[in-house]
Amino acid sequence: MSEQTLNPFLICQSQIKEACDQLGLEPAAYEMLKQPKRLLEVSFPVKMDDGSIRVFTGWRSQHNDAVGPYKGGLRYHPNCYADEVRALSMWMTFKCATLGLPYGGGKGAVKCNPKELSQGELERLSRAFTEHIAPLIGDDVDIPAPDVYTNAQIMAWIADEYSKLQGRNRFGVVTGKPIIVGGSLGRNKATARGCVTVVAQACKKLGIDIKKATASILGFGNAGSFAAILLAELGARIVCAEDSRGCVYNPEGMDPQALYDHKSAHRSVADFPGAKNLPAGSSVTVECDILIPAALENAITSANAGDVKAKIIGEAANGPTTPEADDILYKKGVFVIPDILASAGGVTVSYFEWVQNLMNFYWSEEEVNERLAPMMIKAFDAVYDMHKQKGVKMRIAAFMVAVKRVADAMRVRGWLG
Ligand code: GLU
Repeated sequence: MSEQTLNPFLICQSQIKEACDQLGLEPAAYEMLKQPKRLLEVSFPVKMDDGSIRVFTGWRSQHNDAVGPYKGGLRYHPNCYADEVRALSMWMTFKCATLGLPYGGGKGAVKCNPKELSQGELERLSRAFTEHIAPLIGDDVDIPAPDVYTNAQIMAWIADEYSKLQGRNRFGVVTGKPIIVGGSLGRNKATARGCVTVVAQACKKLGIDIKKATASILGFGNAGSFAAILLAELGARIVCAEDSRGCVYNPEGMDPQALYDHKSAHRSVADFPGAKNLPAGSSVTVECDILIPAALENAITSANAGDVKAKIIGEAANGPTTPEADDILYKKGVFVIPDILASAGGVTVSYFEWVQNLMNFYWSEEEVNERLAPMMIKAFDAVYDMHKQKGVKMRIAAFMVAVKRVADAMRVRGWLG
């Protein structure tokens, strides 16, 4: 790998290799896990509002289904590419395994800029993509969900299109749906809730009083904004928040709900009343106790890791920290709760949603939250114990817990000889 590898596929491979080596697994385990089982690339036409046709490219990557159906989000982003989707599907396998969910890992993406598409165009794109990946998905084989720049409405179109193709309702084919068509209460806030639950658990282990803690949030979308709201509910002060259009700072703390409303009205956190605008990237290095990267990959690199002041990083995004940055943070004593643990609340409530769909029996929001918290804490404790016992980073400890579970399943199924 080059000095500063930004290719998430290579980064993920190095994480898996390290876990396999630490666990002393047979070489076949790494050979099986180092790439997805299947990657489908599709090109498909969409009629735009002006009558013209545009051809879009998309992917669905299925990494490993040793413990259950492939599971993972679908993102719409102008910069996505095949290796990124591969890596994201691999991270999903280990995310599900860290939580002990009966799922493997999958991920999908469509290369597009949803901010430039009308609702009608977005709907036609989502339906066309569904038609093209339909042979691969299903409630017992591969179950997409929201990810970057996709949402409940898009999931509803996918569920509808897939149901039409099947000639019957198959709401369990995707999770993260609107409540009226089989969505689960609590799913919207689940990634944030899971992240804040493990951050609070880390505070306990490290003797940090969360009521007196300060937090900085990078990425003020679904995960980041709800994480800010939930952290504030626990008494933490939100001193910094950043999105793709701006970064705001107020050492006295900002009301995250007011910040959310401001962003909804102005499409950015920038110019939030009472706060100072800071240059892009400042949320990573600002003075705070807790840093929540909740945007895209490679936000924390060797260029800024040395300046991180936070004591705890709760990775709500997938792959926000490069391996070089990870080493720097480890040497500085920053406690990193890795993505495959800290961002697992979303897929855990997706699992609850899918179970509810299969049972046609729906739970209250309290029930969902009451089931989520102990699962997050149990996973955190298993990873923390591995980290302490083996003297490895939390990230490698999480991969060790997860890789062991997947390897055990592959072995017992006879895939490893
Ligand atoms: N996209 C989310 C993730 O990366 C959720 C996946 C899911 O719910 O299946 O974890």
